[in-house]
Amino acid sequence: MTNLIGKGWAAGLLATINDPKNIIISSNDAVVIHDKYPKAQHHYLVLPKADIPDIFHLNQSHLPLLEELFLLAQNVIEVKRCQLDDFKIGFHAQPSMQRLHLHVISKDFVSDCLKTKKHWTSFNTKLFLYYQDAFALIKAGELIKPLNKELVQQLCNSPLECNQCKFVGKNVPDLKRHLLDHRTQKQ
Ligand code: AMP
Ligand code: ZN
Repeated sequence: MTNLIGKGWAAGLLATINDPKNIIISSNDAVVIHDKYPKAQHHYLVLPKADIPDIFHLNQSHLPLLEELFLLAQNVIEVKRCQLDDFKIGFHAQPSMQRLHLHVISKDFVSDCLKTKKHWTSFNTKLFLYYQDAFALIKAGELIKPLNKELVQQLCNSPLECNQCKFVGKNVPDLKRHLLDHRTQKQ
């Protein structure tokens, strides 16, 4: 039973991309959707139409596809009239959902859905693999390997360092108040 529930949850992205009304933009080989639980003011996911399970299945034959995913990431930022510099584009080193997906997320990290330490660390430590770094690895003929458990644990427990200054949050609510101040200053 647990397995079935697990599978259902992990397949959520597939259900989302199968409904055309969820597609913001698309190309021959990929689609862009809203992340259902956005961790910032802008948070999109770019997925291939081909059934590539995750980053660990990428090899050199996927380089053109990766370039297409990145192009769509840039396109959605443009469509939303935002600036590339205000975004992080990359993969979670330890993804939880089925089907390869590229995160396109604004650096404000102001969102009601950002609730846990893992939500923060997964985008702001080595748990986040920048697109450029993933592309370089694959281009060099390497495979992306899962991080070992101890490192994941260590990264999950990293201090809550602000991504815009030297502030370190005491806890997630403290960091969130601080991030909101940055956001307000920018407006
Ligand atoms: P990860 O597998 O950790 O790289 O991230 C999966 C992402 O998918 C998270 O940012 C979730 O908020 C998002 N998500 C979960 N379920 C859905 C869904 N059904 N539709 C769209 N996004 C989702
Ligand atoms: Zn700060």
